[in-house]
Amino acid sequence: MTIGVWVLGDQLWTEQAALHSCADRQSQIPIILIESLGYVQEHPYHRQKLVLVWSAMRHFAEELRQAGWTVAYETAEDFETPLRQWINAQGITELRVMQPNDRPFTAFLHSIDLPCKLTLIPNNHFLWTGDDFRQWANRRKNVLMEYFYREGRQRFQLLMEGKHPVGGQWNFDKNNRKPPKGRLNTPKAVWFEPDTITQAVIQQVKSGHFSTYGQVEPFRWGVTRSQALQVLDHFIRDRLPTFGPYQDAMVTGEETMWHALLSPYLNLGLLQPMEVIRAAEAAYFDRNLDLSSVEGFIRQVLGWREYMHGLYHYVDADYPQCNRFNHTQPLPEFFWDADKTDMNCLHQTLKQVETTAYAHHIQRLMILSNFALIAGLSPQQVEQWFHTAFIDAYDWVMQTNVIGMGLFADGGILASKPYAASASYINKMSDYCQNCRYNKSDRTGDNACPFNFFYWDFLDRHRNTLQSQGRMSFILKNLDKMPDAELQAIRQKARNWHGKGEGKDEG
Ligand code: FAD
Ligand code: SF4
Repeated sequence: MTIGVWVLGDQLWTEQAALHSCADRQSQIPIILIESLGYVQEHPYHRQKLVLVWSAMRHFAEELRQAGWTVAYETAEDFETPLRQWINAQGITELRVMQPNDRPFTAFLHSIDLPCKLTLIPNNHFLWTGDDFRQWANRRKNVLMEYFYREGRQRFQLLMEGKHPVGGQWNFDKNNRKPPKGRLNTPKAVWFEPDTITQAVIQQVKSGHFSTYGQVEPFRWGVTRSQALQVLDHFIRDRLPTFGPYQDAMVTGEETMWHALLSPYLNLGLLQPMEVIRAAEAAYFDRNLDLSSVEGFIRQVLGWREYMHGLYHYVDADYPQCNRFNHTQPLPEFFWDADKTDMNCLHQTLKQVETTAYAHHIQRLMILSNFALIAGLSPQQVEQWFHTAFIDAYDWVMQTNVIGMGLFADGGILASKPYAASASYINKMSDYCQNCRYNKSDRTGDNACPFNFFYWDFLDRHRNTLQSQGRMSFILKNLDKMPDAELQAIRQKARNWHGKGEGKDEG
């Protein structure tokens, strides 16, 4: 029997399960990596995402060759043609692939007519397997993240003193919501100059005949494990000590604040979740760091990341079609071209996504998806856009984050209430409103901020549904107190906005 291994583009770790299963026969096992141009024609991607993935794959292929593996690297119109040719040429009788993270790719693998046996090796890029998560979830009435996170702390003995959490509390989130007041001394991010491999990919993307989005240059992301480790070291040394307090803050021109910038590398397999978590935990004990910051960060990776992945494989296959509020408004054009909106918070965030393929969590949640939610945009169009726009986007992480957390389109499987907010939240947590043509305090006038009328219109349209969410009752009482004339004006503003297009609304 001749075994061959196909390494997928987001499985770039020498210890990944399919490679690991053959590690004792390294010199006899052929490996293939494939760039499919057809795959990227099915769906547009940010240019920097394409450069990141293809350059990281090419670097990884080199790394494997240097470690003694025999590696074929193919660029083709589709996956099947080079795969079949390689299987036949190498006389392969068993093709091993590590189980893909994304459901559609697993379905695709099963649909290919291969000339040999296909073996999917269980994925080892996450701390919890799909079965682990299912067992945990099946024992519970509700599957909220906080309980999953606590279980993870105990299971992996992270930030624990015996059975108790270090510091006597599981969660220090309340300390991590400081508004950005005054001048903040944000740390510099670690970026890299493109090497010759990356430059070649940049040229390929520039001249490619497929639909793309965003700027390809300057391209500053790391493309190897060693660069990803530099980003991790820098984060642990310079950012983690003060990661917490301004985690929810947004400031014009500050693309990254204290955020880790680790998701592109974690999601490709260049970094592993446990090494990231252990590095943070070790820094806490060795350097006596602020517990709110360290716990806050560990909760993101051990809690949210693992939870989103587990939930993605737990929910029904029709989850991507969820649309609890029956929202059908089309995605406004300005999502593709930031210059087409003069809502400053959206303009700043979308411009940043165009130039970097990155926005931090609160920009994604409280600016982009908050707007999409309250303006009633189609969840499926919004999810497609997120998938296109972000450097770290993959099906497994988009579905639950966008459909579930951002848009509440799943009716509350993972969130206890929708993340809906008016300009008052954005003004508190950012400086965007200071330079906006809209009036952050106005709901109905000529310059009323769209976040205001859409927010109240959203509550009004979905009053019945929202009433069943206990945490919404306080705000719904405020809606009840609103004078009828004002509510009518709000409804009209929301209707006009969609009718006329953003920026043309004269009130
Ligand atoms: P930090 O804020 O520094 O957090 C540290 C790490 O925690 C991240 O690198 C990430 O690995 C993990 N993490 C934190 N929250 C989440 C979460 N909700 N889901 C998964 N991992 C999490 N994350 C992606 O990796 N890819 C996406 O395409 C993506 N799309 C999102 C869309 C929406 C609408 C929302 C609300 C969130 C999305 N997230 C996504 C989650 C989160 O916003 C990003 O992981 C984070 O902003 C990445 O930047 P960072 O590495 O600087 O993260
Ligand atoms: Fe955004 Fe409204 Fe503030 Fe302008 S006023 S930045 S549109 S929230």
